Amino acid sequence: FDQRDGWIWFNGEIVPWKDAKVHVLTHGLHYGSSVFEGERAYDGVIFKSTEHSIRFRKSAEIMDFEIPFSVEELNAAKDKVVALNGGGDQYVRPVAWRGSEMMAVSAQHNKIHVAIATWAWPSMFDPETKMKGIKLDIADYRRPDPQCAPVHAKAAGLYMICTISKHKAEKKGYADAMMLDWQGRVAECTGANIFFTRDGAIHTPIADCFLNGITRQTVIALAKEQGLEVIERRIMPDELPSFNECFIVGSAAEVTPVAEIGPYSFKPGNISRTMMDAYTNAVRPKSKAA
Ligand code: PMP
Repeated sequence: FDQRDGWIWFNGEIVPWKDAKVHVLTHGLHYGSSVFEGERAYDGVIFKSTEHSIRFRKSAEIMDFEIPFSVEELNAAKDKVVALNGGGDQYVRPVAWRGSEMMAVSAQHNKIHVAIATWAWPSMFDPETKMKGIKLDIADYRRPDPQCAPVHAKAAGLYMICTISKHKAEKKGYADAMMLDWQGRVAECTGANIFFTRDGAIHTPIADCFLNGITRQTVIALAKEQGLEVIERRIMPDELPSFNECFIVGSAAEVTPVAEIGPYSFKPGNISRTMMDAYTNAVRPKSKAA
């Protein structure tokens, strides 16, 4: 991935993709002092760019460092890289980390580095394929107790259990894994939030120990606009057989219906389709969506 053509914004400068390098004694690499974002540009315009920039700075703050660029500067930097890399539909990846001045757990004065890369990452499937639904494993690892990890930061360190769980799922033929939380409740997927439907209403877990995704918040608002009831509550896995539909949501995943979670089956239907269409319509800049 590091040998592509294109441009990366790196500490305020635009550098060729292949030259955006870091030293092996980078604190972020050894101790996980790194936070990131995942966003999408549609027709060259980043959806909810400000919300992502605010969360990016907030994640850093939770990790005890400050991103040395304002929300406005980050927004402008993201727009610049999206444009330089050709506009259109792209995935946007800001990342910030502690540098290499000190190599120990404590690194209070290490420089904070920030980079923004963007690349073409089309929607995972076309709408018809999506409506078949993906298959999810149930992960062994659980989302940690908020007293054991900074669960509301989009922190690189929290993704180690996601990568392990996703790899394990993929090796068994699943697309992804659903994770329970530390109390055994349904939580989310390795990189997306999860929704269910029953009797025409939407149910989703309370985001008290995992990321309250920007897509999750968008989908809840869109569902309410459609007149659908949205219930945020504790969901135990033994309830899974009682749900009709299931879909996962995230900036990368967008709205993706689910056909199976371990032994349980779901039938992607009207609500999944309604939310997929509403989200697709919401993310495109209005002049072009009309
Ligand atoms: N949970 C996890 C673990 C994620 O990585 C993501 C993707 N950032 C989400 C939820 C969804 O967040 P968002 O909708 O803000 O992309």
